[in-house]
Amino acid sequence: MMQTYECVVSTGHNAWVHIGTGATARFGVTVAIPAPLVATGQAMPDVCVLHGRPADRHKRVIFRSKTPAWTYVLILGGVILFAIVAAVLQKRIKSPAWPFCPACAAVRRRRLLIGVGLVVLGVVAVVVVAGVMPQGASYGPLLVLAFVLLLLVGLVFIARASWASVASGFASRNGMAVEVPHPDPAFVQAAAPALQWAAQQQAAQQQASTQWAAQQQATRQRGGQQFPR
Ligand SMILES: [Zn+2]
Repeated sequence: MMQTYECVVSTGHNAWVHIGTGATARFGVTVAIPAPLVATGQAMPDVCVLHGRPADRHKRVIFRSKTPAWTYVLILGGVILFAIVAAVLQKRIKSPAWPFCPACAAVRRRRLLIGVGLVVLGVVAVVVVAGVMPQGASYGPLLVLAFVLLLLVGLVFIARASWASVASGFASRNGMAVEVPHPDPAFVQAAAPALQWAAQQQAAQQQASTQWAAQQQATRQRGGQQFPR
């Protein structure tokens, strides 16, 4: 299984699958899919990234980068300041048709059911308890707090039921790739040709820009020789 990843790593100069590098080391393997592949959907395998099964549905998903840890310090200066800086720094990569499989749909359904269940339970509990509880009961505020927590947890589950959450990918900090932790080896294998292609494209672009810079420098140097001061 590990061989697959190593093979993929060695084919791409641009890190497609990071192994044990930096922050991803603790979480194992993360697949990094170049943004152009995600945005166009071209050359993307029609395989679920997380489960490795053939995709049976495609959804529009916007991947966002994680908020850098240091920005949370700005909360001290005000939530609005923090929100503005976080929004400015956030990178977004839009996928018009991200592949999902039936297992993904099941994950989404489960989160939605749990979330809606908790919210309904919270609301019903408040209504019932409010009717039964004696006036001015000392445990009243505590119960209210418990139900509010129940509601919040339910809302978190509902938010996590979005297709973007189910996809569990993030835009990289530089906005160049979508990173998905714990990809299925079947996806990594299916994506290998696309990786090679993307890496070649990038290498060619880099080479072209290096050549251009070298040419510019050579021209400047020639110019300097032609017109000595
Ligand atoms: Zn899936």
